[in-house]
Parts: sequence; structure tokens; C-alpha cells
Amino acid sequence: MSDHDSEYDPEQDDPLQERDHALNFEPEMRSMPREVRNVLHPVRMEGDTHFKFRCHPDIPCFNTCCANIEILLTPYDILRLRKRLNISAEAFLYEYATPYTLTKGQLPVPLMRMNPETGKCPFNTPSGCSVYEDRPVTCRYYPVGMALMHKQNSQENESFYYLIKEDYCQGHQENLEWSIDSWRQDQGSDGYDLRNQGWMDLILKRRSAGDEVNTSLQLSEFFYMASTNPEEFRRFVFESTFLKRFDLAPETVERIRTDDEALIEFAFDWLKAILFGDKKLALKPEAKAAQTP
Ligand code: SF4
Ligand code: SF4
Repeated sequence: MSDHDSEYDPEQDDPLQERDHALNFEPEMRSMPREVRNVLHPVRMEGDTHFKFRCHPDIPCFNTCCANIEILLTPYDILRLRKRLNISAEAFLYEYATPYTLTKGQLPVPLMRMNPETGKCPFNTPSGCSVYEDRPVTCRYYPVGMALMHKQNSQENESFYYLIKEDYCQGHQENLEWSIDSWRQDQGSDGYDLRNQGWMDLILKRRSAGDEVNTSLQLSEFFYMASTNPEEFRRFVFESTFLKRFDLAPETVERIRTDDEALIEFAFDWLKAILFGDKKLALKPEAKAAQTP
């Protein structure tokens, strides 16, 4: 998911809409904020669509793109960055993240906190990204964006890609050819997408449900906790009545005790069960009377 999925107001009166129709923008692209649409190349791309791009330290625009941007941090982004920095979730969130609520979907997500004076990413240095091997998936995708949609009445999501062409970015004039698939593989974004699957599913499903699903403040807090702070979510599971109420296989309990990735996956299954009645996780018979989390 790109950071550009984070704002959404198709109802707004917007003169750009005429242009978008004329350019055959996909409906999902039309509903993006106008500053995003201004830099979109209005062609739907699939995995085998080709484009030319190269970014390198000698390019005149080097580092321009690492300031004044919104980078939505996924659960796996945070795990990788924290491991790299060797800090707790709490310390990471305090130092590097700002909570943000998706306009449609009402689920809170963390954004990377840019330097308030310079607008730069905190990991940007004169010689480039100081966390390059562990950079967030949004940075890995750039200049490709991904649009994700949840198919109504289905368990499946649908995705397509598009190019982001900002005036300052000279990488588009370079002559190195990629397909979307080879770009994703080269940048490692495909692996991140796999690990963020449960989180993306939940955001999309919640967004497409609209007002039919009520997200309480408590559920939003659980979602943010599961997305950002596995230590705290683990304390909630193991130090509350959770394990007395939910029917978990013993091997699942052992896995989520120590494995952060497994715990995050489990957390989103649990939230899907609460929000949408998914049957992956059941209450113990004796706990059926107590339905609140
Ligand atoms: S603006 Fe484009 S080419 Fe320049 S450093 Fe950023 S991604 Fe690379
Ligand atoms: S994490 Fe790295 S690549 Fe991403 S915006 Fe920050 S400095 Fe740039």
C-alpha cells in the first residue's frame, strides 16, 4: 500500500475531475488527493508493464524525494526499523512516528515524523538513506504507486500500479528498463507486502464496509497497538483474560509468545473476527456470553 492511499474524499467538488475523466484515470486514482493526482502518470500498470527509471548518488536530484512527504509506516516497516535501531516499540513511536487517522475507514496508522524545521526524513543524510536496507515499503516502491481495492462480497483484494512522476525526479530520464514485477523484487517490496497482508486486508475491508461497521475507540486503539507495538499487544494477550476466552491452538500460543511477526498476523485475525465475524478465531464455549474484547 502506498502512502497515497491514506487520504480519500471522492465527494469533494474538484475541478481536476474533468481532466481525470479525459485522461481515463482509473476510479481509484480519481479519488486520490489532488496533489497526488497532479504527479500521477495516468496509465494503469500491471506486473508485466515496463517503465524506465534509475536512481543513483550522482543524479542532480539526489535526496530531493526524502523530504516533505507522507510515509505511512506498516507493521513490518516498524519491526525492521526497530531491529536496525535496536530500540523498543515505545521509543520508536515516540521518536519517529505520528498517529494519523485514515479519512475513510477510521483506522489509525502511524506516519513517519519528518523534521519539523527542514521537512526532511529523520533518516536522510547527505550521502543518502541511513537505513537503506531497512527502509519502509513506501520508499521501496517509489516511483511506483500501488492502488489496492477490496472486492465487495469477496475475500479477495485487487491491485494495480501506476507511476509517480514528480518534476524534480530525474530518474525517469534514465535508460534502465524494469517491469513492475522486477522492480518490486529488486527493491524487496514484494516481501514486505506479503508480511503486511493481514494489516492491508483489514484496512481495505474496513474502508469498503463504510458506515456499516462501527469501529469503537477501543478497537481503533487495539488496531494501532497491533500495528505498532507487539510488546504491548503481547502483554494484553498473556496478562489479561484473553487466553481464557479465545480458543487458540497450543502451538499458536507458543508461536505468538516469542515471534513478533506471528503475533502481528494473529492480532489482525483477531480484529477481523471482531469487526467482520471472520471465523478463524472462535470464543471458548464458556466465554460466549462475554463478547467484549
Ligand atoms: S528524486 Fe528520483 S532520481 Fe532523484 S533521488 Fe529521488 S528517486 Fe532518485
Ligand atoms: S527512510 Fe530513507 S529512503 Fe525513505 S524517505 Fe527516509 S531517508 Fe528517504
